[in-house]
Amino acid sequence: DTFSKILSGKAVAESVLDRVTDETRRLASQGIKPGLAVVIVGRDPASQVYVASKGKKAEACGFLSIKHELAEQTSESDLLSLIGSLNDDPTVHGILVQLPLPKHIDADKVIQSISPNKDVDGFHYVNVGKLGTGAVTEAFVPCTPAGSMLLIERVLGRDLSGLDAVVIGRSNIVGKPMANLLLAANATVTIARSKTKDLPAVCRRGDIVVAAVGRPLMVKSDWIKPGALVIDVGINRIPADPEIGSKSRLVGDVDFELALKTAGTITPVPGGVGPMTIALLMANTLKAACTANGLPRPT
Ligand code: NDP
Repeated sequence: DTFSKILSGKAVAESVLDRVTDETRRLASQGIKPGLAVVIVGRDPASQVYVASKGKKAEACGFLSIKHELAEQTSESDLLSLIGSLNDDPTVHGILVQLPLPKHIDADKVIQSISPNKDVDGFHYVNVGKLGTGAVTEAFVPCTPAGSMLLIERVLGRDLSGLDAVVIGRSNIVGKPMANLLLAANATVTIARSKTKDLPAVCRRGDIVVAAVGRPLMVKSDWIKPGALVIDVGINRIPADPEIGSKSRLVGDVDFELALKTAGTITPVPGGVGPMTIALLMANTLKAACTANGLPRPT
């Protein structure tokens, strides 16, 4: 039935968060409290929402949650010195700079100034390099692909030998790290992009399809190999249409209703990859706190 084909990220995210919370309680008995510092520059409304929910989740896990809200006109050098002081602060184990940053700030320079040991977003070259060389457990892996990978593991296990995976999108935040995770799990990986020739045919090769594009309902049901696992990373807001009386709503990159018929398993939007992303941020922060204290990383 169609219901059993839907892979809820909410349930898996809850189980990740429960584990993080338990582990954090155990650390508390050793006098250790994971600390997550979130830095936001300017008043972008979507960023405000993300930052608030990250702070709330961190507190719910038992972390120290620190928020630095800086004015839109903050200079790059002031931001860099804040990062420097967070790098030196022993109560802070994870540092996250909410993107996008205002145009006058070089986002890459800021990200590369974060200590790789506190880079819980996994965007520092050191962590990108570790993931790229297959040292996955040593790296901080970007939260969205890491969360997507956990969902894939739930369905197909850890060894994807012999399976074809197609990742649509090649961003540094989602597509590329996703492809590296799939490679590390022994899948045969294809990365598609905007100019890929005959994308539907490429997509149909995938036993696993990860859509990370940002185009509402782009992936059609006849692009999907029957029985494939479809992970929909896209989050797209469709505006309200008063003509047909529809409200504004969130949809993924996959035409979910129809794809459900072809796919073996598919993640919904919302409630799929979204909740996994924030859960993995908490798991990464816990990992950073353990490493900083010379403790083994929780798996
Ligand atoms: P980017 O815009 O950085 O990258 C999009 C990628 O999609 C690019 O590589 C682009 O190709 C490719 N692309 C664009 N149009 C097409 C097309 N017609 N056919 C094939 N490929 C195409 O986006 P992100 O990777 O940052 O995010 C992707 C989506 O995931 C967005 O909807 C975003 O909102 C969502 N997202 C969700 C998260 C979550 O927590 N669930 C977290 C992060 C992102 P090219 O390189 O050729 O330009």
